[in-house]
Amino acid sequence: MALQTSKEGEVPLLILKEGTKRTSGAEALRSNIAVAKTVEETLKTSLGPKGLDKMLVDSFGDVTITNDGHTIVKDMEVQHPVAKMLVEVAKAQDLEVGDGTTTAVVLSGELLSKAEDLLDDNVHPSLIISGYQKASYWALEELDRISTKIDPQDREKLMELAETSLSSKVVAGGKGLDYLSSLAVDAVLQVARQVNGKYYVDLDDIKVEKKKGESLEDSKLIKGIVLDKEVVHPGMPRLVKGAKIAIVNAAMEVEKPETTAKIQITSPTQLKSFLDEQTNMLKEMVNKVAATGANVLICQKGIDDIAQHFLAKAGILAVRRAKESDMDKLAKATNARVVTSFNELTSADLGSAEIVEERKVGTEKMVFIEGCANPKAVTILLRGGSDMLLDEAERSIHDALFVIKNVLEDGKIVAGGGAPEVELSIRLKERAKALSGKEQLAVMKYAEAFEVIPTVLAETAGLSPLDAMVKLRALHMEGKVNYGVDVVKGELADMVERKIIDPTKVKAQVIKSATEAAVMILRIDDVIAAAAPPPAPPKSGEGGMGGEEY
Ligand code: ADP
Ligand code: MG
Repeated sequence: MALQTSKEGEVPLLILKEGTKRTSGAEALRSNIAVAKTVEETLKTSLGPKGLDKMLVDSFGDVTITNDGHTIVKDMEVQHPVAKMLVEVAKAQDLEVGDGTTTAVVLSGELLSKAEDLLDDNVHPSLIISGYQKASYWALEELDRISTKIDPQDREKLMELAETSLSSKVVAGGKGLDYLSSLAVDAVLQVARQVNGKYYVDLDDIKVEKKKGESLEDSKLIKGIVLDKEVVHPGMPRLVKGAKIAIVNAAMEVEKPETTAKIQITSPTQLKSFLDEQTNMLKEMVNKVAATGANVLICQKGIDDIAQHFLAKAGILAVRRAKESDMDKLAKATNARVVTSFNELTSADLGSAEIVEERKVGTEKMVFIEGCANPKAVTILLRGGSDMLLDEAERSIHDALFVIKNVLEDGKIVAGGGAPEVELSIRLKERAKALSGKEQLAVMKYAEAFEVIPTVLAETAGLSPLDAMVKLRALHMEGKVNYGVDVVKGELADMVERKIIDPTKVKAQVIKSATEAAVMILRIDDVIAAAAPPPAPPKSGEGGMGGEEY
């Protein structure tokens, strides 16, 4: 059935808008696959510790340097709908397990590239889809079989996991790797809760704050919350011990009327009483805070200069314009309740901490809230020479924190460096033997797709990818399931011995996300794209350079 018919003698039946572009059937599928392969090619070179970074420049000229798969595809601002679907894969991967985003996108691309071979062999897309789904189910089963359990108390192993995750990042140079890994492990262990022997980690309990200056090795884990703010008034204390903290989501200012009103002041006494009135209102607010016994005030909105003066006189340390995201963290950490007006504030709403102190970090000041009522709140204060480095450090630490959370909660790990992919590929091919015909072909191709990961890792390590694959397959057939590519040393080795390990949960999610995306794209046999809106006419007087007159 066609949407546009034009039989002889009949008036063409137009149901699509003029300018709409339509491709269907095999042509649509193949052009979609071509897009996925292009995205895959772009990301391949960023995989693993020897993968290169991407420099992305957005339309405002802002530069991002990153190795993070999700950030790359997100910031590439891709146009094609299929490329956008792959961005979604990376996003899902990032949200679910934090790491493995590059792997997920590369594997989706490879699954589609293998599907193209199947199309060439006249395998119908619906058969490819069912074969792929079966294969992914089997792959997850086998993944579980090749996983090993770890003891969550085993700090060494957690360090190895964090290091594997961080080793592919810009931050891995020098001592940074070891140091950041230990920060990540300590942070997660600090906030982890144990219920009936099971671990739970809420990564929201870990705040990551960045401050330019010094180097990554000067980053610190603070047991408490750090606010990128200063104490508002020089007369206020810089250090409060035994802090009683009021957290208020309101301005300590005299509200200006919504409507424009004119106030006629005809005499100096009138002016004075008007100002006195304002001052009294502010004084009243400060008194309310002081009456609750608070000695620290964190305000999400502004604090009037006069109010600052009174707060200082009352010995209260105050911070204004705290970030909204910090307010909840702070409330949770100190066991405070965020109140929305100063009238509401009572002593029961106050939070507590051992110390609130303004300290100099680099050239700027920050407020540290330590020894909080709830010890499950920590801040990683990242330091580094440039904003670009700090941003990438933040993305990297996010991956590492997630990796440790995954393993604490799930308890299972696999070897890294492409070892599980080689093993899964072999096992799937073995299981495919039980199938027949085209379904078998589909599962075989799915199995082959896994080899892209060790192949790319071997390539980045400067090895011959073909040679490495042949050797790896042989080693795995001998039962050496943990053999993969040690990218740093440029040789094949037992990954567990080399301390290169990944969480099973990350690998499982890679399989799920990549298969889902590939299947979704394989299901499409018709692309109907509306015409782009016409470009806006240039404003008069904006002649620009050149022009069509020539
Ligand atoms: P992703 O975004 O998918 O996490 P990465 O660039 O972080 O991509 O690369 C992850 C892959 O690199 C994993 O397969 C991991 O096992 C592997 N890897 C990490 N460190 C090493 C290493 N030293 N040698 C070989 N492979 C490594
Ligand atoms: Mg990674």
